[in-house]
Amino acid sequence: MAENKNPNLDSVTTINQDGSHFKLHPANVSGKFTTARRIIGFILIVVYATLPWIPINGNPAVFLDTANREFHLFGISLDVQDLWVLFFFISGLGFILFFVTSLLGRIWCGWTCPYTVFLDHIYRAIERAIEGDAPARKKLDAAPLTGSKILKRMLKHGLFILCSTLIAHIFISYFVSLKGLYGFIQDGPRTHTVSFGAIAFLTATLYFCFAWFREQFCVVMCPYGRIQSALSDDNTMVIGYDEKRGDPRGKASDPNNGDCIDCRRCINVCPTGIDIRDGLQLECIGCAACIDACDEIMVKIDRPKGLVRYSSHNALNGISSKIIRPRFFAYLALMLLGTTVFAVTVYKKARPFNAQINKMTGSPYQKDNTGVRNIYQVHLSNKRNVSSTFDISLQDAPEWISMSGTTNGITLTAKEKKTYNLVVIAPAEKYEGSFNFTIVVKSRNDGMTVKNTISFAGPSPKLYRKNVRMAKDAAEKEARDTPTHTDQP
Ligand code: SF4
Ligand code: SF4
Repeated sequence: MAENKNPNLDSVTTINQDGSHFKLHPANVSGKFTTARRIIGFILIVVYATLPWIPINGNPAVFLDTANREFHLFGISLDVQDLWVLFFFISGLGFILFFVTSLLGRIWCGWTCPYTVFLDHIYRAIERAIEGDAPARKKLDAAPLTGSKILKRMLKHGLFILCSTLIAHIFISYFVSLKGLYGFIQDGPRTHTVSFGAIAFLTATLYFCFAWFREQFCVVMCPYGRIQSALSDDNTMVIGYDEKRGDPRGKASDPNNGDCIDCRRCINVCPTGIDIRDGLQLECIGCAACIDACDEIMVKIDRPKGLVRYSSHNALNGISSKIIRPRFFAYLALMLLGTTVFAVTVYKKARPFNAQINKMTGSPYQKDNTGVRNIYQVHLSNKRNVSSTFDISLQDAPEWISMSGTTNGITLTAKEKKTYNLVVIAPAEKYEGSFNFTIVVKSRNDGMTVKNTISFAGPSPKLYRKNVRMAKDAAEKEARDTPTHTDQP
């Protein structure tokens, strides 16, 4: 049991010398950080579970529709051509995490990581409710297989499997939407073998991780856990033990001792089984349980709280801590760069519809005596889950230019894609040669516009006018030379 194993800096508590898993039983703890983490954990669970339910622009708030290669993030709709925007989204998030870690250490791991949130606030909460605090769980582990033990274990693992199944379904609904998931359930596993296989695999993985693997994922597998030590320095906020104040450890009654009474309460509550008094360690996920545990003890022995507290390595060693340092500027610059590029690209490119305009392949233009025509193809794609209506207009074009084809009140049903031909005409008497202009596609649903600047091609105006004049002259001559009925006797 964790209580009987002495953590040290040469080995990982949760792994035995022979490589087997050492089962930890973190003790219950209460205090301001535990309460705050519980509230944040509850809010996050609600957010994770409800995002597929909240409709924005006709799609779930987060819907990674891989089947149709469309991605919807809080009202921003991206299709496969816009996927490059995700690079800036992911790198922006990564740089935010770098920046936050350099300032606040592993705040992400202990407070907001979905793995910790589910493990601490769902699975461990169920375990504690059924089997009791650490000593009772330890006793139950060692007890022979009685009816009561079988019942408790069945209830606990039954609830673990139920929660894993629910989380797996919520996770899959991010990719197929709730409506899609409901359809899959109605159709049955035979019709949607891959999706049901994915849910079954995910359920089994979640159950394995949360029922057995637990803290080992953070300690030996999580890549962020590995890189966080490279992101922090001696000024980063961490959870640490005040050695100057706490040592030498021993009985509170001995005036030569420090404030640490060596009660091991901070070790007993630690979900990764480490001793925070040994200094900052890779296994520490920053959950603050040891702060609450030690504060409880300090209150009991009438000493000031904060022997274990949020601080920096420098501050704990009596050196003043700096927030502003080269690392701060480097990560801040990367974070601002990533998030700004993402915001700008989303604003400019990601729309609930796509409108791409190309010249019709083949002849660049058509001409006759009445004017010069360019034909364009307008590829419209409605990314919304509801029908949308669009209007096409011209901008920065000469006022004598005109359009023919479908230009107003173009309605596309949900997720529909269509291509329209648009003819732009320059009348012969006004034509002055090639020019650039803008075709504007505007959504009536929200007034959003997509603008495409494109060229109008045509012949040399001098040559064209000469040809038109010659053709007109020839036509007039022919008209003059052709006898009419009235000329006949
Ligand atoms: S040392 Fe403290 S903060 Fe770190 S994991 Fe253990 S209990 Fe949590
Ligand atoms: S809980 Fe506090 S007093 Fe008890 S061993 Fe840990 S640091 Fe020392």
